Amino acid sequence: MKLPYIVIVDDDLQVLRAIQRDIRNQYREDYKVAATESAIEALELIKELKLKNEAVALFISDQRMPEMEGVAFLEKANEIFGDAKKILLTAYSDIEAAIQAINNVKLDYYLLKPWHPPEEKLFPVVNDLLDDWHAFYKPDHEAIRILGFQWSPKSHALKEFLSGNLVPYIWMDVETNEEAEKYLTSANATMNDLPMVVLKDGSFMNDPTLPDLAARVGLQQKATKEMYDVLIIGAGPAGLAASVYGSCEGLKTILIEKSNPGGQASNSARIENYLGFPTGLSGGELTRRAVTQTRRFGTEVLTPQQVKNITLKDGYKVTEMMDGTEIHSKAVVISTGAAYARLNIPGLEKFAGAGVYYGSAAVEAHACRDEVVYIAGGGNSACQAAMYLSKFAKEVNIVIRGERLAQTAANYLVENISNTPNIRIITKTEVTACSGSTVLENITLKNSTTGEERTVPAKALFIYIGTKPGTEWLNDVVLKNERGFILTGSDLLKEKSFHTFWKLEREPYMNETSVPGIFASGDVRAGALAGISTAVGEGSLAIRFVRKYLQDM
Ligand SMILES: Cc1cc2nc3c(=O)[nH]c(=O)nc-3n(C[C@H](O)[C@H](O)[C@H](O)COP(=O)(O)OP(=O)(O)OC[C@H]3O[C@@H](n4cnc5c(N)ncnc54)[C@H](O)[C@@H]3O)c2cc1C
Repeated sequence: MKLPYIVIVDDDLQVLRAIQRDIRNQYREDYKVAATESAIEALELIKELKLKNEAVALFISDQRMPEMEGVAFLEKANEIFGDAKKILLTAYSDIEAAIQAINNVKLDYYLLKPWHPPEEKLFPVVNDLLDDWHAFYKPDHEAIRILGFQWSPKSHALKEFLSGNLVPYIWMDVETNEEAEKYLTSANATMNDLPMVVLKDGSFMNDPTLPDLAARVGLQQKATKEMYDVLIIGAGPAGLAASVYGSCEGLKTILIEKSNPGGQASNSARIENYLGFPTGLSGGELTRRAVTQTRRFGTEVLTPQQVKNITLKDGYKVTEMMDGTEIHSKAVVISTGAAYARLNIPGLEKFAGAGVYYGSAAVEAHACRDEVVYIAGGGNSACQAAMYLSKFAKEVNIVIRGERLAQTAANYLVENISNTPNIRIITKTEVTACSGSTVLENITLKNSTTGEERTVPAKALFIYIGTKPGTEWLNDVVLKNERGFILTGSDLLKEKSFHTFWKLEREPYMNETSVPGIFASGDVRAGALAGISTAVGEGSLAIRFVRKYLQDM
């Protein structure tokens, strides 16, 4: 098997030798290490590696080099091996440049020289980055392949499901990828059978359902125990945090997710405001870390499984899934978050997954290379998506109803956007119509001041116009407010009917719902501040109260 490369560049021979020695000693079993004093030579080398179909997992470059600064080298290297991780070696005086590079070249880490002892300062960082790289990398011969039409909603759903469940795959567009033909022929399949999944063992699945695909790629879908201490619904940041804390504290914990872990956060191309990650991290990375962490503590994660209902039986909770199975638990945490609000335009839904996307910028960005794309909405997530898409698309247009982006998005994003030449902001405008034969081709924009309408070609429309709570399935099991968010804690005391539904002597715990032992955390809870840190905090807090509830039981 070919080993991936770690490429090191440093013009200072002494530093080069030291880092090369440390990296070789630690990683030579699993990686080839290439080291050079010259950035130009290193670029030649990596072009050659690309031609030979080799993989590079990590670049380590010094910042101060006479031929080319480290940041410039990493930028060029990134064009060749976009998925490789990047570490900049800096002196204390170069920290400013390193912080700049976090935005410019999406630097993964800056390492201050000297890094001794490496066991403390170098290896943990490199291990973490290499783990991350591995999570999304599969050598060609080991990967699952999805074959389909680029703008097909079914292909999009499969890609989104696998990437969200951290299952690496190779995407093969049958219209542009010559190799795809070979797979179709050997499966005796036609274009009508698409999308098709080719599994690692060479077997095929034509147009599979997500549960079937999940079963074949080894994702758990059935509970193994008769009774759990806590069942958590929804694996967004709140549910993942609750599951980490639940199982870490020794509770029998099960987490149910209807699509893929990560929730809304998994659509985030770069989360820049999460504590402890100064270089930012993608939603995919955060999810991978959280899922690994919770599984390590023993949480069972069922995916895809959609919860349909909760009933009460002798003080226990019975959670029913869409497939009819039931799971019993002593407590429940609902963390079903929120989903994108749909844009209400006649005919739009026909293009969902075929040019119209709710979130999903991270999954579809490559398909937008050199195209003109539109984003409806001007909140933080719309801006993050625009920044990410701008690396691929020729032009990204953000369509907002207001006059200024600053009214709806965080300052740092507004600033990043104004510094990105291929992003345009179209103000006081709404998307009012869409058209195309099988995929989206045009959208109509209406200026709300002048009333003028114009129809423009659009390869894709990404919709980020707000969210609605994931509680439609919940019927009347617990009390919700008029917008559908779940009422908890002291908010319940304000309800006139409080004494009709609450029969315990104690008051409801902070994020306990109108049913004792059922808790709500994250975006789904009325009054919660939307955001990843808040959701994580609320998920962890819910477990604290679950424990109290279990002690009282
Ligand atoms: C594109 C984008 C970028 C963002 N970037 C940032 C950022 O940079 N920083 C930040 O702080 N916040 C960001 N946010 C907001 C942040 O992601 C959310 O506030 C956070 O994810 C809320 O977490 P949650 O766990 O409460 O809910 P969610 O993330 O909404 O997760 C809910 C989960 O529940 C599952 N679910 C729903 N119903 C059921 C059911 N019946 N059965 C089983 N499972 C179910 C869903 O599939 C989903 O996975 C962003 C949001 C988006 C959309």
